[in-house]
Amino acid sequence: MTAAADYGARSLWLDTLAAPIVPRPQLHGDRAADVVIVGAGFIGLWTAYCLARAAPALDIVVLEAEIAGFGAAGRNAGFMSAGIAGQPRAYVARGGWEGVRRAERAMIEGIDHVGEVVAREGIECGWAKAGSLRIATSQAQLERVRAGLDSRRERGLGESDLQLLDAGEVASRVRVSGAVGGAYTPHCARVHPGRLVRGLAEACERAGVQIFERSRVCRIEEGRARCAAGTVRAPIVVQATEAFTVDLPGRHRDFMPVFSHMVATEPLDDHTWSQIGWEGCETVADQRHLFTYAQRTVDGRIAIGGRGAWYRMGSAIRAADERPPAVHAALERTLRAWFPAGADAAITHRWGGVFAVPRDWSMSIEFDRATGLARAGGLAGHGLVASSLCGRTLADLILGRDSELASLPWVGHRSGRWEVEPARLVAQRLITAVLAGADRIEDAGRGPAKRARLVRRFAPSR
Ligand SMILES: Cc1cc2nc3c(=O)[nH]c(=O)nc-3n(C[C@H](O)[C@H](O)[C@H](O)COP(=O)(O)OP(=O)(O)OC[C@H]3O[C@@H](n4cnc5c(N)ncnc54)[C@H](O)[C@@H]3O)c2cc1C
Repeated sequence: MTAAADYGARSLWLDTLAAPIVPRPQLHGDRAADVVIVGAGFIGLWTAYCLARAAPALDIVVLEAEIAGFGAAGRNAGFMSAGIAGQPRAYVARGGWEGVRRAERAMIEGIDHVGEVVAREGIECGWAKAGSLRIATSQAQLERVRAGLDSRRERGLGESDLQLLDAGEVASRVRVSGAVGGAYTPHCARVHPGRLVRGLAEACERAGVQIFERSRVCRIEEGRARCAAGTVRAPIVVQATEAFTVDLPGRHRDFMPVFSHMVATEPLDDHTWSQIGWEGCETVADQRHLFTYAQRTVDGRIAIGGRGAWYRMGSAIRAADERPPAVHAALERTLRAWFPAGADAAITHRWGGVFAVPRDWSMSIEFDRATGLARAGGLAGHGLVASSLCGRTLADLILGRDSELASLPWVGHRSGRWEVEPARLVAQRLITAVLAGADRIEDAGRGPAKRARLVRRFAPSR
C-alpha cells in the first residue's frame, strides 16, 4: 500500500487536484451488498455511477486497492476521444462492419454523454470540447493520415467527422514546429483526468455508492470479493481492475500491462502562449508508429506523453518503472522540438502509468447472469470514453435491459490469453524495436518504412 502522502506524487493530475487526497475508509470485516465492484478507476466508477442512477435502491460497494484514480485513470493524457481500442476489423466477427460502424458512433456520442455528467455533477475538470489534431511531421506520417482518413470515410465518417489539413491549417490552430499537415476531428474533449475521476467518485457517493479505499481484493469469486481484512458478499461481482488484473489469481495472462509515460512543463506565460497559439485547447498527437500526444492543460502547461510501449518481464508492474530517465528525456526533446517558444520552460512533473493490452488489442464487456460475475476491460490507450460505455453497458446487462449498447460487438468478445514468458517479452521487444526503427527512418525523411506495416497491426492503436 502506498503512503497516503505519496499519491499526489504519482502524476501531474493527482498533484493538482482541487483538494488534498485523504484516503477513504478501508474495508474491515464482512458486509453484504447487492453489487460489489473491484477497482475505482473509470470502468469501476462509471459502472457504479450508472447502476446507482438507474436503480437507486441497489446497495453498491466499490473496493479499491489504493485510492480512486490511482491507476491509468489518474495518469493519462486527458484525450476524451472517439478512437476505439484495437483495429476495427477485430470486431467484425461479432456484428460485421455494421457493428463496427455502430461501435464507432457510440464512441462519438459517448463523449457528449460524459460531458453531460460532468455538467450535471458540477465536476470541474477543465472540460474543453475543442476536437483533436492529428499532425504529421514527415511525409510518411502524412501518408498514414490520408490512409486513416480514407478508411474512416469507407466506414461512413464524413467531412464533419474528420478533415484533412495542410501545414498552414494546422499552424492556424497550434504551431507545432515541423508539422507538414494533418487532420482534425471535432470528436474529442480535453480534460484534467485526475479531477474527473475524483469528481466521479464523489458523484458516486452522492448517488449512494460506498467506496472503500486501500482495500485490495485478493480473490474474486462467485458471490463475493475477498480482501485481507474483510469480505463483501454480493450476488453480482464486477471486475474493473484493468492492467492490474494480471496480479489476480488465474488472470496473469489476460492482459499485457504496458507503460506509457508523460512529462509536464511549468505553467507558461501569455507571451509564450501567443507564440504557440493553441487557443482552442485541441488535443494533439503525431503519426509516429510509437506516437506522441500532448494537451494544453487547464492551468496553462504543456503535458506531453508517449514514446512508449514499455513492458517488464513477467507483466510486473513496478513503481520504479514509472520514471525511466531515457523515455522522459526523449519526451522532453520532442516537447522542445515541437514548441521552440516553450523550450526554456522547466519540467515540473514526470510520471507513467500502465494500460491493459489484450492479446488482440480489442476491448470486451461480459456479464454471466448464472454466476453473477461481470467484467469489462482491455481498453488499451482509449479508456476515457470507452470506460463510460463499459459502465453504461454493464448497467444495462446487469439490469436486464435490452439496449443498443448491449448489442455492440465488444459485448461477449473474448481476446484470448498472452503467450507464456519469455515469448511475451521477446515479441513485445521485437515489435517495439521495429516500430522505433521505422520512426527513426521516417524522421530522417527516408520513409515510409515498409517493414513496419506488418507489425503495425500489433502496435498501439490510435
Ligand atoms: C500515460 C497514459 C496516457 C493515456 N492517455 C489516454 C487518453 O488520452 N485517452 C484515453 O482514452 N485513454 C488514455 N489512456 C488509457 C486510459 O487511461 C485507460 O484505458 C483507462 O483509464 C483504463 O480504465 P480504468 O480507468 O478503469 O483503469 P485504472 O485506472 O487502471 O483502474 C483500475 C483500478 O483498479 C484498482 N485495482 C486493481 N487491482 C485491484 C484489486 N485487486 N483490488 C482492488 N482494486 C484494484 C487499481 O488500483 C485502479 O485504481 C492512457 C493511459 C496512460 C497510462
